[in-house]
Amino acid sequence: MSVTVRFAPSPTGLLHVGNARTALLNWLFAKKHGGRFLLRIDDTDAARSTKEFEQAIYRDLEWLGLTHDGTDRQINRMAKYSVAFYQLQAAGRIYPCFETEGELERQRSLLAARKLPPVYNRASLEPANKAKWEGEGRKPHWRFKLSRSKVRWTDLVRGPVEIDTATMSDPVLVREDGAFLYTLPSVADDIDMAISHVVRGEDHVTNTAAQIEIFQALGAPIPKFAHFPLLVGAGGEALSKRLGSLSLQDLREEGTEPLAVASYLAKIGTSDPVEPRQTLGELAAEFDFAKIGRAPAHFVPEELSTLNARTLHVMPYSAVAGRVPHGEVFWEAVKSNLNKLGDITDMARLVTGPVTPVIEDAALAAAAAELLPPEPWDQETWGGWTKAVAAQTGARGKGLFHPLRLALTGLEHGPELKKLLPLIGRDRSLARLKGQTA
Ligand code: GLU
Repeated sequence: MSVTVRFAPSPTGLLHVGNARTALLNWLFAKKHGGRFLLRIDDTDAARSTKEFEQAIYRDLEWLGLTHDGTDRQINRMAKYSVAFYQLQAAGRIYPCFETEGELERQRSLLAARKLPPVYNRASLEPANKAKWEGEGRKPHWRFKLSRSKVRWTDLVRGPVEIDTATMSDPVLVREDGAFLYTLPSVADDIDMAISHVVRGEDHVTNTAAQIEIFQALGAPIPKFAHFPLLVGAGGEALSKRLGSLSLQDLREEGTEPLAVASYLAKIGTSDPVEPRQTLGELAAEFDFAKIGRAPAHFVPEELSTLNARTLHVMPYSAVAGRVPHGEVFWEAVKSNLNKLGDITDMARLVTGPVTPVIEDAALAAAAAELLPPEPWDQETWGGWTKAVAAQTGARGKGLFHPLRLALTGLEHGPELKKLLPLIGRDRSLARLKGQTA
């Protein structure tokens, strides 16, 4: 199976976790099948699209590790949309409409009052209306004439889907100022970029029915479709209300690991457990549309925080080299105590100081200071030394280890001392055992 997918965000805001999941699921599917992942900037809405948001999309995807195999902006491709438009027009599927937004709104409320679906009545197809409105000098917008029949596809997530396009309004393809709306450029690009699978949220299911008719009217092969349920909050509430606090930029600035974000977004709403993974490649290998359930996926920030910590606890040094101080031995000593990578600054202070020791048992601290062996130290040093301290003082268990930890680190809890001690070194250990800040 040859796979080409696209992620097609509109640069009208920052990428939030919902968009990121769309991007990720496309990327994982492409990687699983050795396919291509294209990034298409859907910027036909010139009034709302900005260069800053576009740059943010590139930056956020790069942070998440979702490399693309090609990219373009719709603004560069307008000529192709005109060609598609004329092709549809030649096929008799395009017609001009003259109603104002106010008139359409009135129509919709009349239908609503009669409990009928808000389907456009095609009044502009009536020659008398057309003549009248044209005579008034109204500028048209342009609609695609749906077949008003049943469109069927086998969705890779939803299974067999059937939508009667008689229940839908003919979509507006071109506004009266000549601007293309989303529907046609998306199909024209999907054809031109040979997209094999359109993978997107289930809010697009109805669009798909209209778009399949456009693929057909353009004589193009129809891609496969996968519409996954959207993200909701812990209590099932729509996430859109809180998107501001769930942008990738916020997560990055809060110090969340991109791999944890990806591992979380790849698994919520699926039959797989949420577990830490070490690479995106593992997530890709495990990816399958069949695992995606029909219920909404719950995005719970606290679960992401927990997964972030668990991801760090199993992270090899190679994944953080250059981002953390003191090399591999230090990383292995402290990683299981981190919730966020940024916590490592506090851990580094345990090694390099200053640490203000807490002397809980002065006699024990003094004996321990006396018994410190000469360097070089390694991970065996701790065992030999504490045994000697135990032998001399009679202290055991908590009565031995708690005062040593408080003296050496000033803290109740922390990384394993057998790993930390050689990094702290003899001079600082001695000073701290004597109650000196070091
Ligand atoms: N720009 C559209 C969106 O962000 C793309 C939808 C699609 O994948 O076709 O919703």
